[in-house]
Amino acid sequence: MSIYEELGLKVGLEVHRQLDTRRKLFCGCSASPSEGSGPRLRITRYLRETQSELGEVDQAARFESRRMRRIVYEFSPASSCLVELDEEPPHPLNEEAVRIALTVALMLKARPVDEVHVMRKIVIDGSNTSGFQRTCMVALGGELSVDGLRVPIQTITLEEDAARIVRSDADEVVYDLSRLGIPLIEVSTAPVLNSPSEVTRTAEAIGRALRATRGVKRGLGSVRQDLNISIKGSGLMEVKGVQELELIPRVVEYEVRRLRHLLILIEELRSRGVRPEAVESQPIVDLTGVFEGSSSRVIRRKIGEGGVVLGLRLPGFAGLLKGEGDVRLGRELSEYAKAWGGVEGIFHSDELPGYGIGEEEVRAVRETLGAGERDAFVLVAGREQKAREALEAVRSRAAQAVYQIPDETRAALADGTTCYMRPRPGSARMYPETDIPPFPVSRELIEEIERSLPPPLESVAASLMKRFGLSSQLAWEVIDSEMLEEFEEIVRLGVSPSVVASILTEGLKQLRREGAPVENLTPAHIRGYFALVSRGATAKESALPVLAELAKNPSLTAEEAVERLGLKAPPLEEVVAFIEELVGAVPQDERRSAAGRLMGELMKRYRGRVDGALLNKLLMERLGAQRP
Ligand SMILES: [Zn+2]
Repeated sequence: MSIYEELGLKVGLEVHRQLDTRRKLFCGCSASPSEGSGPRLRITRYLRETQSELGEVDQAARFESRRMRRIVYEFSPASSCLVELDEEPPHPLNEEAVRIALTVALMLKARPVDEVHVMRKIVIDGSNTSGFQRTCMVALGGELSVDGLRVPIQTITLEEDAARIVRSDADEVVYDLSRLGIPLIEVSTAPVLNSPSEVTRTAEAIGRALRATRGVKRGLGSVRQDLNISIKGSGLMEVKGVQELELIPRVVEYEVRRLRHLLILIEELRSRGVRPEAVESQPIVDLTGVFEGSSSRVIRRKIGEGGVVLGLRLPGFAGLLKGEGDVRLGRELSEYAKAWGGVEGIFHSDELPGYGIGEEEVRAVRETLGAGERDAFVLVAGREQKAREALEAVRSRAAQAVYQIPDETRAALADGTTCYMRPRPGSARMYPETDIPPFPVSRELIEEIERSLPPPLESVAASLMKRFGLSSQLAWEVIDSEMLEEFEEIVRLGVSPSVVASILTEGLKQLRREGAPVENLTPAHIRGYFALVSRGATAKESALPVLAELAKNPSLTAEEAVERLGLKAPPLEEVVAFIEELVGAVPQDERRSAAGRLMGELMKRYRGRVDGALLNKLLMERLGAQRP
């Protein structure tokens, strides 16, 4: 039994991917908006919680509206209309998007619904101007075979992408509207995945199934994975926004370490006899007086700005906040403080004295809070209202630490760890969208889509191997590189298929490892570069430096990058003249044996600019021609 099975790890996967339609889901705006084009306009709004039709207030909604941040939308009339601004009712569902979603459904053996009904899902962080996201289920059930493992698909859903966050701070959040309304497909599996590698392979398999439709967008930002993770005894963690496949196992492993640690803490706190009520009843105490003239820069600055220092005793928690490695209760409490109070962070007793807070101050804090040896404490410096809200959140999370791990919505971070975002939304958040008529899914439509289902990628791989002589591994790498279309196009220009394949796969991976921002490369860059190679304007050996240059300066054309790096091929006459000069300098009878040395000199001069095979051919011709 693996450690994950023993812990009862269960993961459900949701893969979200943008569809490559012409128009957005509910209006006529382009689904491939170019950001930053046209005039930029701004509007400002505030969102408030409202009761659902059942009279409940969603806790996730309450979380956001408590913060009462100003929400600013930036947009350009070229990529957003009145629908995105929520000033005009949405248009009927985009049929092209429904067809792609149905194609995915049939490929995954799911059951399409008879009528697609659009629903509203409350989203109150401001990422949707309307305060909800429109979503509609297209098919149910289905399954995927992942290396022999049968993974049930629960739902296939079509939804609108949210606005992109530009920046945010405690008082204001700014969104760009161009992404709002781009159609997204969401494929969710049942929570049956039991190890990090199963989750990764399933995500990969869903990705391949989606790409096989050739109806989805490619590249970074077009795909996002959410993971629903739990272990035996924990709440459910909804981890949002894992963009890269490679991050999935690290996120799962991190969550497992974190949840295990929190379970161990429950045991430990219980064995210490700590009760949640004892935590809940702790007062929040003003300690500003203790820190007058403190040598902590942060605290001095906060007090100087008119702020206060508040403290909270955590009875029986001594030594439990510092944790193990990257999982720490202190970090959990700090994330609650930031999320609920909008403060920058907390200080806790397991890391003090430190951060400029001295022994004397720690002693005074303990005395004022009545905190003994066995107790921990938490400090927050900032504006009074925020500091108080932060410590209230810390207090309630610490009380839970005694008996449960609460359900949470968390964000995946770039280092493979996660952080708390907000509570999980309740079930009171969905209601019907009455502005949009249902979309009937007729038998004729299903039959039509069934007849034109694209070939599965297995047969695409087989065909790449047969047509271009690629190995199975290289064929799959081309498919997984998401550059299949470019590959086929470039090979038609007459560049060697195995050269193109290895540059598009291994070559780009190498550049990424070396830190080049490969995600900036566009299909136009890549096509443009290989067009130069096919015309002999540069040699294929220049591929990595040129692509790295383009990644760093995406506004350049391939030709400009080649020129900038001095990798442009010289005119053929010049090359020939140089070869003749080299050959001429070698006495007649030594020419045969000099071939290797001369080729070395040519490569030294022309590497990356002129194709090696061409140089060799020209050299051999000259050596042969001048043979007596
Ligand atoms: Zn629009």
